[in-house]
Amino acid sequence: MSKDNLKGGVNEGGNSVINSVTNGKRDGERDGERDGKIDSEAVKRQAIALGFHQVGIAPIAMTLSAAEQNAQAALQAWLAQGFQADMAWMNSDKRQDIRHVMPGAKSMICVALNYYTPQQRLKGRQYAKISRYGWGRDYHRILSQKLKQLAHWLRSQPSPPGNEAIEARPYADTGPVQDKFWAQQAGIGWIAKNGNVITRRYGSWVFLGEIITNLALAGDQPHTAHCGSCSRCLDACPTAAIRAPGVVDANRCIAYHTIENRAAVLPEAIAQNLQNWVAGCDICQDVCPWNQRFAQESDIEAFQPYPGNLNPTLTDLCDITDAAWNQHFPASALRRIKPSMLRRNARAALAAHRPSPSRQHREPPSSIPYDKHPV
Ligand code: SF4
Ligand code: SF4
Repeated sequence: MSKDNLKGGVNEGGNSVINSVTNGKRDGERDGERDGKIDSEAVKRQAIALGFHQVGIAPIAMTLSAAEQNAQAALQAWLAQGFQADMAWMNSDKRQDIRHVMPGAKSMICVALNYYTPQQRLKGRQYAKISRYGWGRDYHRILSQKLKQLAHWLRSQPSPPGNEAIEARPYADTGPVQDKFWAQQAGIGWIAKNGNVITRRYGSWVFLGEIITNLALAGDQPHTAHCGSCSRCLDACPTAAIRAPGVVDANRCIAYHTIENRAAVLPEAIAQNLQNWVAGCDICQDVCPWNQRFAQESDIEAFQPYPGNLNPTLTDLCDITDAAWNQHFPASALRRIKPSMLRRNARAALAAHRPSPSRQHREPPSSIPYDKHPV
């Protein structure tokens, strides 16, 4: 991280490490409550000092902004189509309006951590594929620790004259926060056609975190979208889970099924298209030109892969014991995938290699019953 990164300069689309502070007032912004440039910049400097790779701020108006209304409508349409599968937590009032999470919230501080490491998977049909997010130490722990430190620092700051004490509530993929929407509003990146947030600096290999605060801070410009006419992710998805640009149907998504689906058997239309994925799926990120061009190695040592997570074999995972699972996946986000699920996924991936008349490529049914999928 160079010293220049701390200057707050901004490129087109707000993709600098520290997003610039906007001078204009936004829709619904409260008169007399903006603390101005100095406080926002102080928050951002602290975030960068704690090791976050990007930070931006989105103001929260007293009432829903036009952008929030649009996001709310999009979420409701997604839910109405059942694209959340059995992730009931997606259908929460709090997720629809951040003011239900913290009445009096005035700012959303959004951060990103780059987790890319340069290792590549071995090629060969014997190897199981594990999504990059799960290669190293559980990102929730790394993100939470840094967010808690930032929130603690915020609370310890003197509140503006006449204002209540500073509240700061951190979220590390752990609460009813539309993290991708707020990341775009804070200028971190844009919600891409594959449903992920893409940053100009790191591609989409980032973990997102937020702090909701009652501190009024000057905000950044929302990030503009830069997918253009590209459709590589839509074309590459083996289960046609990206139903429209930015709209991912969890029912069809390999990541949902390998991580969240607790059924004893995977739906056949998913199983036969696993392409050796047993824990998540990176296909729609691997093919993205932004990732191919801008991925850079994370400086966070904890994200370096555990040796066994890179190239396990399907046959080994088919029969992995609970004890071996426990030993093999220490402090890893992959622990969400219980040993029976991992065995199920590996067996299904292996079975998909065998020719069978009943196992022809088929369009997945829309009723197949997602988390680390890219929505
Ligand atoms: S994670 Fe895999 S299955 Fe899900 S939308 Fe992306 S390419 Fe498709
Ligand atoms: S592959 Fe193309 S369309 Fe898909 S997210 Fe990347 S840039 Fe956007």
